Amino acid sequence: MLIIGSHVGYKKDTGLVGSVMEALSYKANTFMFYTGAPQNTIRSNIDLENVSKAGALMMENGIDKNKVIVHAPYIINLANGDPSKFNFSCNFLSEELKRVNTFGMKYLVLHPGSHVGLGVEEGISNIVKALNIVLSKDDSDVMILLETMAGKGSEVGRSFEEIKAIIDGVSKKDRIGVCLDTCHLNDAGYDLNNFDEVLNSFDKIIGINKIKCVHVNDSKNIIASHKDRHENIGKGTIGLDTLIKVIDNPKLKDVPKILETPYIDGIAPYKEEIALIRKEVNKQ
Ligand code: FE
Ligand code: FE
Ligand code: ZN
Repeated sequence: MLIIGSHVGYKKDTGLVGSVMEALSYKANTFMFYTGAPQNTIRSNIDLENVSKAGALMMENGIDKNKVIVHAPYIINLANGDPSKFNFSCNFLSEELKRVNTFGMKYLVLHPGSHVGLGVEEGISNIVKALNIVLSKDDSDVMILLETMAGKGSEVGRSFEEIKAIIDGVSKKDRIGVCLDTCHLNDAGYDLNNFDEVLNSFDKIIGINKIKCVHVNDSKNIIASHKDRHENIGKGTIGLDTLIKVIDNPKLKDVPKILETPYIDGIAPYKEEIALIRKEVNKQ
């Protein structure tokens, strides 16, 4: 069964129930949310009653909690070795893992980080160090999904080899997975027209079973542009047919697909985009 949803909001007053309601309004059967604003660290206390209500609501509506995704805020940068920033990022990630566990979710998507001029190697070594510190102190079963990045600025994780180098350095490897982002893959230089080849290469380098989430976005820019600007489904350089081949790939059947496409005139496009995708997948 197609497991598809989108990024949804998380607001202090409506909590997780509000997020589930938003996902249901798009006719989604999964969703992704930030535990607060993605660009800051202000986090409200989690209302456990609200979480259990949300759990019941998900169950009634066929949303598998184990496939719901949490996205860590952008301000976490494990690649920056500056001691105060490094410690801040480690502490915030530790807290975030606890929050994900309290929500009862399994997956936390994380941007590996930006090396801010230190070079890729040092960036990777900082990320590895940070993940080992954070995971050594955490005994939940929440998995950190490293997202494949577009290679904008000094972003680390723009190739499968870089992601592999991070995983290789982490002791608790069973706590690390990968989130593919179609816009990022395109912008990093992977040709999604040959998605089977891309997937084979991923399998050889990392192992396909590590893929636990796919972000489905079209791209405003051409392949290898290293830009990272998402476009609505079918309106960008990747195109509908290619995106459907990714979504409908039998090897990624049980992996949740999450839309992070831009709002159109202030309105979320997800209900229409999910309907379009379902229609296209049913045609295959
Ligand atoms: Fe992301
Ligand atoms: Fe993404
Ligand atoms: Zn992006």
